[in-house]
Amino acid sequence: MDLRAEPFDLTLRTPFTIARSTQLKAHNVLVEVRDGDHTGIGEAAPSAYYGERRETVLAALPYLAEKLGNDPLLREDIAANLNATLHHGNAAAKVAIDMALYDLAGKRLGVPVFRLLGLNPARTPITSFTIAIDTPEAMAERAREAAREYPILKIKLGTPHDIEIVRAIREATNATLRVDANAAWSAKQAIQTINRLAEYDIEFVEQPVAASDLEGLRLVRENVSLPIIADESCATLDDIERVAGRVDGINIKLMKCGGLGNAIKMIHAARAHHLKVMLGCMIESSLAITAAAQISPLVDYADLDGALLTSDDPFDGVRVERGKLMLPNGPGLGVQRRASATKQKGRKHD
Ligand code: MG
Repeated sequence: MDLRAEPFDLTLRTPFTIARSTQLKAHNVLVEVRDGDHTGIGEAAPSAYYGERRETVLAALPYLAEKLGNDPLLREDIAANLNATLHHGNAAAKVAIDMALYDLAGKRLGVPVFRLLGLNPARTPITSFTIAIDTPEAMAERAREAAREYPILKIKLGTPHDIEIVRAIREATNATLRVDANAAWSAKQAIQTINRLAEYDIEFVEQPVAASDLEGLRLVRENVSLPIIADESCATLDDIERVAGRVDGINIKLMKCGGLGNAIKMIHAARAHHLKVMLGCMIESSLAITAAAQISPLVDYADLDGALLTSDDPFDGVRVERGKLMLPNGPGLGVQRRASATKQKGRKHD
């Protein structure tokens, strides 16, 4: 199998501000894995918060490419080889390959990935649409506009004006609202804030406290009425046992866990601990979003809006209709490069 990597940028329609950062562009990498007549494609959307950058992905891929072997259907063996090569992290680099292998398998067998996995495309959830941090007035305006197309909104919090923001948005729309503090609050602040937010009819709260503050998660959950979902505190399969009993659910992201196969294992482990499951994303094109959407019939909540937030998505894949994820019927991931997408310089690793 040959592997080829190609960097590409995504531009955000509006600055993507969360509690700890503002992002204007995403620096992602397209990976193509070729086996005979078939080519599978995957995407890495590296996150500096989880220790990756485009440069680390491009540096890791040649080492991983050497471990692909010659049977693309042996995904479990290949995943074990990749993990043995680079033990820790590099999840985005690994998931780009894993995604490409699923795509390749589907194309070779002539079926969409969701069929390969035995999943019903009618069971995809409705994705939320994220309202990034801005002034309460600007966020309320954006929420009013977004709610015309998306029935579920996710509001980024972790500002000095959190209550004001949610009040303004609730006055602007009756959409389902979820909030995400991105680890910004102390446990005490979280309990006070969440108990005040409860009157605005909020569905759940994501990552109220610091990622490592597991005791804080438990304390918050025991002292508020809204469900708590762990995101930054739960990156991989190993984290599930640590957060179980301290939260109501987890947010799984391909770019944190390193593969569709790993994400499926996390979903089942979470179920064994009676946790709700959400499927989230980074700023990703329709390629990685469609890959995540393929397994979305297995989850309770989706936050797969990464491509919707960008203005130059080079791919067509999953469509979103009134928030509902509509999976493409093509073989593999069913993702096509848009005709208008210009090719950037590629790098080839045999
Ligand atoms: Mg989150």
